[in-house]
Amino acid sequence: MLGRLRHVRLWDRQLPIWYDAEYRLPLTAFGKRTGLEPRRADLVAWYLLEWRWIARDNLRTPARVRYQDLARVHGEEYLESLTQRETLAQIFGVDPWDVPVDELMRTVRLGCGGTLAAAREALRRHGAAVNLMGGFHHAGPAHGSGLCAVNDIAVAVRALREDGFDGQVAILDLDAHPPDGTAACLRADPRVWIGSLSGSSSGSIAGVDETVLPPRAGDESYLLALDALVLRMPRPDFAVVLAGGDVLDGDHLGHLGLSLDGARQRDLRVARVLLGIPSVWLPGGGYHNDAWKVLTGTLIALLRHSRRPIRPGSDPMAARYMRLAKHLSGEGIVRRVAEIDLSDVEADLGLKPGPKTLLLGAYTSESVEFALYRFGLLAFLERRGYGQFRVEFGTATTGGERVAVFGRAEGIEHLLIDGVIERTTVGGEEMLYVHWLSLRDPRARFSERRPKLPGQEMPGLGLAREVTELLVMLAARLGLAGLAYNPAWFHTAYVARGGFRFLDPAAQGRFEALERDLGHLSLALVSQALAEGRVLMNGEPFEWKAELMVYRAAGAPDDRGAVEAERDRVAFTLAGEAGGGREGDPPAPRGV
Ligand SMILES: [Zn+2]
Repeated sequence: MLGRLRHVRLWDRQLPIWYDAEYRLPLTAFGKRTGLEPRRADLVAWYLLEWRWIARDNLRTPARVRYQDLARVHGEEYLESLTQRETLAQIFGVDPWDVPVDELMRTVRLGCGGTLAAAREALRRHGAAVNLMGGFHHAGPAHGSGLCAVNDIAVAVRALREDGFDGQVAILDLDAHPPDGTAACLRADPRVWIGSLSGSSSGSIAGVDETVLPPRAGDESYLLALDALVLRMPRPDFAVVLAGGDVLDGDHLGHLGLSLDGARQRDLRVARVLLGIPSVWLPGGGYHNDAWKVLTGTLIALLRHSRRPIRPGSDPMAARYMRLAKHLSGEGIVRRVAEIDLSDVEADLGLKPGPKTLLLGAYTSESVEFALYRFGLLAFLERRGYGQFRVEFGTATTGGERVAVFGRAEGIEHLLIDGVIERTTVGGEEMLYVHWLSLRDPRARFSERRPKLPGQEMPGLGLAREVTELLVMLAARLGLAGLAYNPAWFHTAYVARGGFRFLDPAAQGRFEALERDLGHLSLALVSQALAEGRVLMNGEPFEWKAELMVYRAAGAPDDRGAVEAERDRVAFTLAGEAGGGREGDPPAPRGV
């Protein structure tokens, strides 16, 4: 083996990668329910670019797959049903109102087009190609399920056949779920072999060499089973690898229990076996905070054949935003008042009355709208059906400055983002204090799938992370030490728990204990119970208080001792809790 490989390069810096910003599904209720990170493709592309694993010309832009290509696999009646929001809502496990049909189908068709283009390119270059979306292996000829509307794998194989390719195909499905749809779509093709290594079976699937591992099998037994499966694989002329992101220990829907290093070893072994063979690599599912790291690892395995771990604590979105921010100031677009506008000073001098025109004395409404555009927030809102955006500033009665972002839909102007911010001193440091921040989707509705959280007037936009990142950047640009706010509810503290910490170490300790003791319950249930005084601390009723939470640019102070002392001192229970059920948590949709 080694003799044969001696002269073969194990790295592939020209690896073509299909990616589009519109790979993000235009659904808002989605991430929370399934543990799926809708920004996975973005995070992977940004990580690889920011940490220089790839250059911009590795990235290829997909075209939407043609209906003609889809029709080789799927029946026309089924394809027509995909123009109905009810069909799509069922496949993606969301409510029908949450489905912008055209935009959702655009994402689905872009993903499928990416797989098809990658397949053709893999054959052309006799090597690997990657699509950062795809592996929709549950879609059958006349039905879709588990987030799979069309079967991109089968569509690509059938298109290659149409192109005249008649070689042996191997589909190595390493997603945690078995490829029922793919098998059904390609049943008639005798030169297609399908091998699957999963942690759950929906009964044995005809035409699939299927290995079902016991729950939480772990790295060692997984890799042994993988070696055995690969030995049974006929030598392919073209291969598809579903390098599933749902293999990690702790995944919401997959139960294989792999470590990140185990997943990397999986990819390294398969990459070595397929060296010099045209192969398309797809991400499949992934319902874990670290699922994006699995896909990033797949790319690193293919690019450099490296086992080097993902940089600990790396945050591709923050890195990306910071770089964009530098570009913006370099382009001179987001400038300080001194350079562009004196109206504020004139108003102060009583020369000219008028509405507040600058935010924090520094930003015009145009510059805020431009930043929302440049960081991709307006594009997402457009896909949700809003347009003709308008940014308005004002003064809040509670103190602080108000920023409101409006957008029009069906002839009506809606308030989408509403925030009140102020420069102020917190814990001896000057910070940007957020009095109030509301991200609203006025056309959305609460439902069983999407319960109303305490304090919520209407469902959110799914942009909390982006807006927080923008505020962190804003604080940095104003030379402030960080960002601060008082979470009025448990869930508003919970969404910020990554970068924010309670200023008071005892409050931080209690918060961590709440996560530890009630983390098995749904977020909505815990937040509601806290708001209603139904949570007990050491047996006594516990009242949630809106204590100060801060994000510091310089990092958190070393108060772990005090945090841990309080965390270990307290224990939380739900009043009248009968045991660890997940009541109030509606069934999650099946994943990819
Ligand atoms: Zn899966």
